[in-house]
Amino acid sequence: MLNIVLFGPPGSGKGTQAAKLVEKYSLIHLSTGDIFRANIKGETELGTLAKSYMDKGQLVPDEVTIGMLQSEADKYEAPKGFIFDGFPRTMDQAVALDQYLSGRATSISMMLSLEVDEEELKKRLLLRGKDSGRADDQNPEVIQNRIDVYHRDTAPAKAYYSAQNKYCGINGVGAIEDIFNLLCTEIDRFAAAV
Ligand code: AMP
Repeated sequence: MLNIVLFGPPGSGKGTQAAKLVEKYSLIHLSTGDIFRANIKGETELGTLAKSYMDKGQLVPDEVTIGMLQSEADKYEAPKGFIFDGFPRTMDQAVALDQYLSGRATSISMMLSLEVDEEELKKRLLLRGKDSGRADDQNPEVIQNRIDVYHRDTAPAKAYYSAQNKYCGINGVGAIEDIFNLLCTEIDRFAAAV
């Protein structure tokens, strides 16, 4: 299986690139943010809980997020692979993901991390807030909190994958197609080596 962690701060382009990658490589796209938003829309209990954290730009607790991600992944019996988008966001999530995949006799192939500077992130998120209507993209304080949470709780996961020789940083500023090509080059290099 080809299992990719698509990583990066909020607004780095994970969702945009994931959509293109799943099409090219026939992978299953698992975005925890999308799953939470679907639950909010469907007015489920999980949605109500998630919303209380998302509205403030905080992370939904690990035990909730990890359980949800696993039951979502369980729906796919024999996929070519997964793209994890927005997960893991903590070290505990990274460890849980490794354990889950090892139970399925597979593992993470690589972490592709989109690197984008903070000013550019804020610009993109405010723009997306206007277009998508996402509440957490419209409030500068919530945006700042999400970026701070990324630096404090999420970015350390890079070292976790780096220690496994699976980390790959990608310049996430530029044309969508150019960034996509950089990602594909790394994936193809990995696929050629296994
Ligand atoms: P995203 O769509 O990836 O930007 O996620 C939107 C929001 O959903 C985040 O700001 C968090 O509140 C929540 N969220 C998404 N993924 C996770 C995760 N892996 N762990 C905890 N909270 C998450």
